[in-house]
Parts: sequence; structure tokens; C-alpha cells
Amino acid sequence: MKNYALEVWSNNNFIIDQGLLKLNYKSMPSLLEITQNIREKGVRGPLLLRFPHLIKKQIDTLYKNFHKAIEINDYRGGFSAVFPLKVNQYPQVVEAVTKEGKRYDYGLEAGSKAELILAMSEINENAPLTVNGFKDEEMITLGFIAASMGKKITLTVEGLGELETIIEVAKNKPNFKVPSIGIRVRLHSTGSGTWAKSGGMDAKFGLTSTEILEAISLLKNAGLLENLTMIHFHIGSQMSDIAPIKRALREAGNIYAELKMLGATSLSNINIGGGLAVEYEQHSGKKSYNYSIEEFSSSVVFLLADIMNAKGVEHPNIYTESGRFIAASHAVLIAPVLELFSQDYQERHLKFKQKNPPLIEELRALYEDLNQKNCIEYLHDALDHIESLLTLFDLGYIDLQDRSNAEILVHNIIKKSLYLKRSFTTNELFELQVRLQERYLINASIFQSLPDYWGLEQNFPVMPLHHLELEPLHPASIWDITCDSDGEIGFKEEKPLYLHDIDLDEEEYFLGFFNVGAYQETLGMAHNLFTHPSEYTVKIDEEGFEITFDKESKNILEILESIGYEKTKILNKLKEEIEKSAFIAKKEKKDTLSLLEIYLNQNGYLRTTN
Ligand SMILES: *Cc1c(COP(=O)(O)O)cnc(C)c1O
Repeated sequence: MKNYALEVWSNNNFIIDQGLLKLNYKSMPSLLEITQNIREKGVRGPLLLRFPHLIKKQIDTLYKNFHKAIEINDYRGGFSAVFPLKVNQYPQVVEAVTKEGKRYDYGLEAGSKAELILAMSEINENAPLTVNGFKDEEMITLGFIAASMGKKITLTVEGLGELETIIEVAKNKPNFKVPSIGIRVRLHSTGSGTWAKSGGMDAKFGLTSTEILEAISLLKNAGLLENLTMIHFHIGSQMSDIAPIKRALREAGNIYAELKMLGATSLSNINIGGGLAVEYEQHSGKKSYNYSIEEFSSSVVFLLADIMNAKGVEHPNIYTESGRFIAASHAVLIAPVLELFSQDYQERHLKFKQKNPPLIEELRALYEDLNQKNCIEYLHDALDHIESLLTLFDLGYIDLQDRSNAEILVHNIIKKSLYLKRSFTTNELFELQVRLQERYLINASIFQSLPDYWGLEQNFPVMPLHHLELEPLHPASIWDITCDSDGEIGFKEEKPLYLHDIDLDEEEYFLGFFNVGAYQETLGMAHNLFTHPSEYTVKIDEEGFEITFDKESKNILEILESIGYEKTKILNKLKEEIEKSAFIAKKEKKDTLSLLEIYLNQNGYLRTTN
């Protein structure tokens, strides 16, 4: 447990060295020093750290593997990729994607009007821009404008209605250039895993074979068949199994070949969507998906070549739209721990009397004499005694101080027994862990920063940033600071998390949540009016690292404003009431006001020492 299954999920991005979690890159800074560097400036609350070198790594990996597969399989089509903006639209991510992707002409995919506008303004020259999702006439017209600006844009139609609108716009706005057209095909193959809903005959998107034939004749009649350049499918996110994508490829590959034979001469691209998985698994010690990027790319290339060769059709260019694979690893959420709830059980809180009840004296002796040999027997005695002591309390025979002493002693007896028997776990000991679980309160909101955990129970790997030379012994659950009981990552026997026993009066303790760079940020919500964490981009070189401050958490007035309140009205009302208040001395009014203003201009996360 000491390494938190780093070898399973971290893709060698992080390593443990001298008890610290470090970036496995160039000068190898530790996450702790980066965090402390930021906090020295007085920043409190959660931090979101972005590492653009990890976006570069993923882009390079994607292209390298497809290029290699193309070479090995003597494939005669090209390879292109686009980054789906819905995965992360934040400026630092789009900037890293376009900068690091420039040498490959890595493009962007948009699924809404706002994303399309973003793509039009940020995309590299010559890089492909694909548009998926439902579109109205206005969005389609935007596509025509983009094409007329010289963008390499493909509008993928999700239904016949959209195609009809494209044909209409082409007719009514003859001055605009008609964009390339793609058709999303409805496959009978479905994906696997949590997000498999995008494929299959009952999927939300795509044309059936009858509709595809209809589309071809609509395009022919409108004289636009040469604009049809792409067919597209996407069977779902986080594909856990490679078999369904191979089935989908065979189906889509054959549709492609058929359309070529039906006279779609400009058709030259097959877009296989996204869905490459990211490892979130931290508990089973095993990978949660059954393929590597090498296997994936070589299967795709091999299968398409095979189908096209059999039908005597030229090899199409391959497009992919994997987003999670590109963005997930680049962001780490750092959450300071504010409190360990069972610190109350520390030995220093024991307050024995001159004369203690006999059962307490016995517990005390059990605790002192506990050793490897006797601990199971002593543990049973202690569990027995605490039941009796609690009954004595109910009946009024012992007082609150006695009860507190008894609870602390038993807690520590269980803890010590678990420690002594850590290599020999019985079911009984295993179950006792739950009783002993420590609740770590973090200065963060699960609703804001890990919404897929709240909504889908998607686990994110979590681990402390230091003390990694020590065996963590506390079975742990994590509570966030929202006052909602869903803001909790509970201790699960089948997915146990262990953290260190820390005295927060003595030192700080931070938890890192990993692979949070895909989907979490714009899905995150302001439950309890907690805002997004403060964000930093960390660039690492041979000498050290450089931190750029990207975005401050919204302050309290800003977040109230964002849901429709007027900032000045709130401020004036509070001011007026302070002026009027008879409880605040006249000479203190000014100070009270400035104190209030300081608070209102800070974010709402807690500002205790952590
Ligand atoms: C969401 C989506 C993607 C990205 O999926 P990932 O699992 O993040 O790779 C790609 N294509 C389409 C059409 C999508 O809707």
C-alpha cells in the first residue's frame, strides 16, 4: 500500500523518491515543494496544478504509435487527430494542445456553438476542425463561415435533418464556401464500460443504413456529393475492452467501402471517434482495460487495410478524437487536509483519576502489555470491556471522564493490534478497520473538483504527497467541506484507502487526486457556492520549475454575482446595517467594514492554517 499502486495508474508520470512524490521529468520536483511554493504566497484552499509536458507526452504517444502502425502495415492512408473540446475547454489546456500539436497538425473537435467559435479562433493553420453534436441552421452557417475563412472544417451530420439544412444553406448563401461533410453512422456494435451509451442501434446519434443511402441521394441531387469526405462513429468513452471497437471498425469500414463503390469519390477519411481509456484503478492492483495504445493503433490500421484490400478500395485516412487519453493525466488536484477527526483519540487526551473504575484499570493494563503474541486475546477482552463500560455509563455508574478514557484506550488497543497483526489479517481484524477509520477533512469540494465521483462513482487515484517512506496505517475516508453527506469518499473494505497518522498541529498534510484533467472542470458545480480551485501551470525544465498563476478562485462576491445577485446591493446593505448597529462601537465601525470587505473579496474555502 506504501506506493498507492503508482505503477498501475501513473504511466510513469510520477515516482516516489525519499518519501516524496515527484514528477518523473527533467529536474523531478516534488509535488510538495510545488505546493509549498504556491502556499507561501498566502494561497489557501484547493489547488489545481497543470503540467503541460504531460499533454505533450500523450500527443506524441498517440501520433508515434499510429505512425508506426502505418509503417509496419504498409498502410497507404494518413493519420490525423483532433482534440474534442468538451473534454477540457480551459485556455491553458487548449494552448498546450495547439502548441504541442502544431508539428502534427493536431486539430480540434467542437460539439456546440461556443466550442465551434473557440475552435475557429484557436486552431492551428492547416489543422482539421470537426464538428459533431446537434446543429441548427445558425451553427451550420457558422461552419460555412469557417470554411470561407479557410479552415479545414468538416460538419458531421447526426441525422438527415441536418443534411437538409446544409443543402439549404448552400443554396441560400452561395457566396460562402461549402464545408466538408461527414456522416455519423449508427452501428449495431456498442462499446463497453460506464460511458458505452454512444454506440448501438438505440444510440442518441447517427444515421442508419437506409438513412445513409438517402443521404447519398440527397447529396447527389444537390450537387454536393464531392463535399462528402468523412464517415464517423464514436462508440463511447473509456473503452475497457478492445473487442467492441474492432467490431465497430469492421462495420464502419465496410460502410465506407460500400459508399466508395456507390460513387462517393471524395470520401477519403474514416473517423473512429474517441474512447481510449485512462487508468483510474488504484485498488485491485490490475489494469482496468485490456489493451495498450500499441495494440489499439495496430489493430485499427491492420483491420482497415484488411477490409479495404478485400474490397479493392483505397486506404482511407484515419482520424481519431480521443480526448480523455490526451488530457486526463495533465491535471492534479491538491487538497490540504484540515482535520483528522479521531485525533481526539490520541493518548495525550487520556486523563486518569487517582482512583479509576476496575475495568478501566484493566483496559489500561491490556494496552500497556499488548504484544504480538497476546494481542488477539487482549483485543477480545478490550472489546468485551468497552461494552460493559458503556452499559455502566448508561446506568450512571461511571462518569463522562471514565467513558472518554475507556474509548481512547479501546481505540488505541484496536489500532495497535491491527499494526501488530498487519501481515496476518483475519476477517475480524479486517472488519475492525471500518470501526477505526479515520476521517480526513479536506479543504475542497468533491462536487466542484471531482464531479464524476459524485455522479458516477468514478474513482480517481488519490495519495499523500509525502511520508511515503512510511506504511500508512489509518483506514481512511475523505470528507469535503460542503455540508452535504454526498461530499464524501467513504472507506470501502473492497477498495481500502490507508493514510498516515498525522498531527496537523505539527505539520501539513496534502492529498493529491490524479488524472482529473478530463471532463471534471466544466462539469464541476458550485454546490454550497464553493468555486473552482485556484489554478497554476507548472513548467519543468532541467534546472527546476516555473509556476504561472492562471486563475484565482472566484471570491465570495463574484460567486454571488454569478448566480444573479448584485454585488453592490449586497455590499451596501451590509454597510448600512453596520452603520446602524447599536452593538458596534462608533470608532470600530470603520475597521469592521474593512474586515468584512477583506472576507468578501476572498474565496469561500476555509482559511485555517491549512
Ligand atoms: C466525447 C466525444 C469524444 C471524446 O471521447 P473520449 O472518451 O474523451 O476520448 C470523441 N468523439 C465524440 C463524438 C465525442 O462525443
